[in-house]
Amino acid sequence: MRIYFGILNSRKIKWPKGCAWCNSEPTRWYKYRKKTMQGIGLTILSPFLPVPAAEISSRVASVSYPVCYLHNILAHITKPIRLVMAFLIFNIITVPYQNDIILWLCNLIIASLGYYLWRRGIIVHKVYEKHIELSIPESKYAEEFMVLNECHSIHKHVLIQEE
Ligand SMILES: [Zn+2]
Repeated sequence: MRIYFGILNSRKIKWPKGCAWCNSEPTRWYKYRKKTMQGIGLTILSPFLPVPAAEISSRVASVSYPVCYLHNILAHITKPIRLVMAFLIFNIITVPYQNDIILWLCNLIIASLGYYLWRRGIIVHKVYEKHIELSIPESKYAEEFMVLNECHSIHKHVLIQEE
């Protein structure tokens, strides 16, 4: 189970003292950058060159949270984009053995381990106009986070800060 929080963009996030993954002594801040696509619109490239072009609008937010040495490394490795890349590279270099059952097992292990580790950390789900939505695995850490950030209102499954 994970706990979902809605944090206002106008407020600074308060993190509990420990590493966000294991609550041990943190050694650094891990910066999580999240981009949420909003939509695709048409735009004119320039007044001198009236060519229509597709414009993708998005919202970006950066969230820095405390991590210990090990979880800083794990947070870097378990970014979904990196896991997908590792998965693709592994499958490209092993093309000659494509029919080998061991390869399928390796794929399964890499994918499930990656997914499991990714779910153990902080996930920023979406950047909205006024707030971001993030989730933390259910734990003492999540409870402390809720209290520190005064996320006392519940909207659907998300604990939100009052404006
Ligand atoms: Zn840790």
